[in-house]
Amino acid sequence: MKDLAPHRHIDLKPFIDGAHVPTGNDAAVPTYDPATGEVLAQVPVADAALVDRAVKSAKAALKGAWAEITPAERGRILFRVAQAIRSRAEELATVESLDSGKPMREAKGDIETSARYFEYYAGMADKLQGDTIPLGKGFVSFTQHEPVGVTAHIIPWNFPLVTTTRGLAPALAAGATAVVKPAEQTPLTALMLGTILKDAGVPDGVVNIVCGTGATTGAPLVAHPDIAHVTFTGSVATGISVMRSAAEHVASVTMELGGKSPVVVLDDADQEAALEGTLKAIFTNAGQVCSAGSRLVIERGCADAFIEKLRARVRQIGIGRGIDDPGLGPIVSLQQLQKIDQIVTASIEAGAGLLEGGKILNPEGLGGWFYAPTLLKAAKADMPAVQEEIFGPVLTIQIADDFEHACELAECTRFGLVAGIYTADFSKAMRFGRSVSAGQVYINQYFAGGVETPFGGTKNSGFGREKGLEALRAYYAVKTITAKI
Ligand code: ADP
Repeated sequence: MKDLAPHRHIDLKPFIDGAHVPTGNDAAVPTYDPATGEVLAQVPVADAALVDRAVKSAKAALKGAWAEITPAERGRILFRVAQAIRSRAEELATVESLDSGKPMREAKGDIETSARYFEYYAGMADKLQGDTIPLGKGFVSFTQHEPVGVTAHIIPWNFPLVTTTRGLAPALAAGATAVVKPAEQTPLTALMLGTILKDAGVPDGVVNIVCGTGATTGAPLVAHPDIAHVTFTGSVATGISVMRSAAEHVASVTMELGGKSPVVVLDDADQEAALEGTLKAIFTNAGQVCSAGSRLVIERGCADAFIEKLRARVRQIGIGRGIDDPGLGPIVSLQQLQKIDQIVTASIEAGAGLLEGGKILNPEGLGGWFYAPTLLKAAKADMPAVQEEIFGPVLTIQIADDFEHACELAECTRFGLVAGIYTADFSKAMRFGRSVSAGQVYINQYFAGGVETPFGGTKNSGFGREKGLEALRAYYAVKTITAKI
């Protein structure tokens, strides 16, 4: 029979040097089922001393066990990790859904994507080769790719396992080692990864997992002088403080920060495809997605009919517990729920038109944190619902006079993560794609691409690229060796 509480079997202690170790004190952070508000588990906090132990273990493994293994064998180990994740997919998805609140179908998709990261980068472990550089007959010069060192991975709560594996898989493929700090709201699947990695043959110390808050655990990790690279996904404000701290010991950083991405719909677009795409863009994971399409920028000619259809669809969205696979699950925490409500309220006060939703919900018998799927019509571009990343199921609608105006509105925020466009006009799609400030552009399909396609931000959305072959660059350093012969 399916175990509905697989989280009860998870070892919650920090995973250091290949084993879950006691923290030596009672400090713990609760993680909740956001659908009910009940505590799922009390997760022991790794303090600065334990973080130091984790970093030292990763440092020893870097020149020790991990360096002893050939790149080809490293690749085989990563393939085994992918298989092990797949073999526990049901259990991992159930825990992910319970801990984050995301609908089961999305949690299952996340687990498969996590396996895909290991599969994809496994194939690269023995292909990170350098160049020879022609300096003339008196010299030999070549480059070699060396692991960057011990890497820190600071993980957000919206895609707990996916973000962990997105950074870990390329880091390990490149021969680096790691210390992972999951988000305090959703640490469970990352904790399960410890033994999965060990059983697949990842040597002790190569990956360490330490839980706690940003202050207790994240800050000492990022500040540790033996950390060579920090991969951070989270808010702009925290990202800035992580960069400052990493700068103190000259660690490199990858910053995947927020977004306020537009979905542009032109008059000539396939309106049905655009409607499906818009719904997916904003309501996946209840809008708690960095790359959510949270602004619909729609050309005036098709706006009224499109918005009517959108409203009808939004009214039909079912709300419920993630594990019951509803249309829309809960918001991860009470704090996040209140933040969503505050931005929506402030926007309405600033003149936004409320078309649907706009309120906290209390579905019967649940007691958790839910927000109604919401449509807001923006009155002007400087209102909070246009400028602030809400991270909730709230779509802001901006009407554009024509294509040029739509391009202008697409650019009207400080963010530049993703931009989507729906149009039948290839030239317009290409003009938009080439000019818009964004790390990735989706044409006629939102969330187009996969583990193979580089992903990252421009402007306040950050810098550095994850996914695809680009991600590997963060995890190796190029050394040039030149000899006079
Ligand atoms: P949110 O505000 O959405 O919770 P954050 O950007 O604050 O997102 O959190 C993302 C991740 O960064 C979490 O794992 C969190 O614990 C961690 N974190 C928060 N503050 C710090 C910090 N000062 N140093 C390192 N990590 C931090």
